[in-house]
Parts: sequence; C-alpha cells; structure tokens
Amino acid sequence: MKISVFVVLLAGLLAACNRPEPSKNNSQNGNDHPGLDLNRAAFQKTIDGKKTDLYTLRNTNGVEVAITNYGGRIVGLWTPDKDGHFADIVLGHDSLGGYLNGNNNYFGALIGRYANRIAKGKFTLDGKQYSLPVNNGANSLHGGTKGFDSRVWDAKQLDGQNLQLTYDAKDGEEGYPGNLVIQVLYTLSPDNSLRIEYHAVTDKATVVNFTNHSYFNLAGAGSGKITGQVLQINADHYTPIDSTMIPTGQIAPVKGTPFDFTEPTPIGEHINADNQQIRYAKGFDDNWVLNKPEPGALSLAVTVYDPDNGREITTYTTEPGIQFYTGNFLDGSTVGKGGKPYNYRTAFTLETQHYPDSPNQPNFPSTVLGPGHIFHSITIFHFGVRKQ
Ligand code: BGC
Repeated sequence: MKISVFVVLLAGLLAACNRPEPSKNNSQNGNDHPGLDLNRAAFQKTIDGKKTDLYTLRNTNGVEVAITNYGGRIVGLWTPDKDGHFADIVLGHDSLGGYLNGNNNYFGALIGRYANRIAKGKFTLDGKQYSLPVNNGANSLHGGTKGFDSRVWDAKQLDGQNLQLTYDAKDGEEGYPGNLVIQVLYTLSPDNSLRIEYHAVTDKATVVNFTNHSYFNLAGAGSGKITGQVLQINADHYTPIDSTMIPTGQIAPVKGTPFDFTEPTPIGEHINADNQQIRYAKGFDDNWVLNKPEPGALSLAVTVYDPDNGREITTYTTEPGIQFYTGNFLDGSTVGKGGKPYNYRTAFTLETQHYPDSPNQPNFPSTVLGPGHIFHSITIFHFGVRKQ
C-alpha cells in the first residue's frame, strides 16, 4: 500500500485530536516578549533547499518556547522561578549558524530515526541485515551522520500554542529501511506544560525511536553545575552498559547502586561514585526502565527541581525508558546563547525513549514499526515551582 494512504490516515487522526482554541491574545512568531532575546532573522536561512525559521509558542503566564524547524530544535525555553523571575533553561545557540558548525551536541533536537545507540551500526530485520553510519566509536548514535536533528522539517504554526513539524525520511536514508513520515506536535498548555506528541507511518518494516534532546539547567543555561539540582526517577531498574555504552541486555535493579533515584536525591550525590558504569559514562548517561502501570501508559517518569530557585520539571511519558545524561561530554568548548560557554555537567537531558540498541536486544520492548501501523507517543514536560 502507498505511503500517501497512510499520510491521509495520519492527517485524519491528527484532526480528530483535541486542540486548544487558538489564542486571541498571543501574536505568532513575534519576538516581543521581554524575556525573548533571540533574533528570529538569525534563524531564517535556506538549507538543503528548504527554508528555516524560528517559531514561538507562548501562554498567558508568560512561559515561552522558541523552536526552529532545523532539526525541530527547542532553542529557548523561558520559565518562572519561585519569585516570578524568568530564565531560559535550555542550552542552545543565538543563531542557526551555531547549530551548523559541526560540533553537534544535539541541543534541543528531535532525534531519529533511532535515538540513542545501535551496536556497531548493524541490525537485522525480517532476515535482512542493515548497516548504518557509525558515528560514535564503533556504534551508530542518534540516527547517524545526518539524523533528523540535522534535517529541515516542514513547519506549520497552528496557533500561538501549537507548532506542527513534519519530516519525510526516505527509504535507505542513513541506512534505515522504509519511507517514513513523522509528524511532531509541540503544544504549550495554559498549565505550563510542553507536550511533544509523535506520530509516524512507514511503507516498509523499519525501526524507530524518537526523542527530544533538550539540555536543561534549572538555574538558566550556562549558569553553572546542575549537581545540586534534585532528581527523582520513577524507575526501579536500569539497563547497564558495556564500555562502548551499549546495553548488556540485563535489566538490573537500581537498589544499592548510584542509579537509585527512587527518592529525591541531588544529582551530584553519587555522580563520582566508584562504579564501573559511572566510569564508562563519566557520570550519568544511562537508560532507566520506567515503572509503568501498563506498557504505553502516559505516566510519571521524572521530577527534578532546583532548591535554590524553586524551578521544577515533572516529566510524563508513554515511552518505556528515559536517558538521563549529565552533560559529561560538555567541556566549555561550545559557546552558546549570550556568549556563555557550556562546561562539564552544566546541564542534564531527559530523553524519553525506547531502550538503546533495542533492534539487537530481543528481551527489550520492540522498536519495529510495520506498514499499516501508526507509531504514537507522548512526552510532557510540566514546568512548576516549589516554594520551599
Ligand atoms: C548520549 C550521550 C551523548 C549525548 C550527546 C546522549 O543521548 O547518551 O552519550 O554524549 O547524547 O550526543
């Protein structure tokens, strides 16, 4: 069956979804909020023959999200602290050029076709072996050399709170089988939640794993270490890795390890523990197996807050896992927004996902998407404030 049939199916499905009424108050794409110092023109380029731009979502509480359709990246995110002061809490660049300079930390990007690692860039599907570009030691990371983070997505701003991005990945692109159409809807809600909803269809069996790769610092991007920020992960298990950061296949209990965040714990408390897993990753850079009432349920994944300023993120997802990464590979050589260098452990990611290397791990939840099926997942970041 033709992929266009599935695109129509997908469009119908999206139209049926509940959408908030378009806001009457908020202008679109404008940079008129005092907290928003990004210059839209700096994101207006032509790449691979397609136009890039900067889109802004804003709610009546003053929370703002700036997104470029280059890689579907969240470029800026302004949330209040306990005294009502806004800060931009994601790492990124002031202009599109910063994202093109080859130093790809995947800041804020939508990741695909397969987020995280695939061992040795190889997997077998329906008896056929596929080879992917190897771009992380011996392994393939985040969709290959030119993943979805480096593609120009088609953007449609539906209203002041909803941005729809679509990308058509070709059969064989970065080694993956199947023409894949992926649609992502970013929605900023009145309750200060950023919801990221993914739909995808394919015309041939393929593997998929999507995430958003925002780097957060609750004190503001470029404002020092995140080790004092307090994390709780709703996970009793994690997937240990080998020296190349590929899961061993084991689903291990966190109890008694530095990976136990079942109670609120400062990120830095065990980050330097004498532990082989920590040494492999130079800190935290692991997949936690989320506790779920049932597979695919939209449920609590993570809460993280800053005891100094009260900013808090609560993450919910339908995905079975989350990669919590503590910026161990940031070394100050990347200079971001406002000329600030991004140093070691000055941000963390909350990459909701299927487990790394699932295509080669038969005991992990499947990442195969077949023709005639619609991939659907939701992740919500709620930005709250703790008064004490
Ligand atoms: C990976 C890290 C990697 C980072 C940036 C994370 O998802 O787990 O190992 O350094 O992305 O590429």
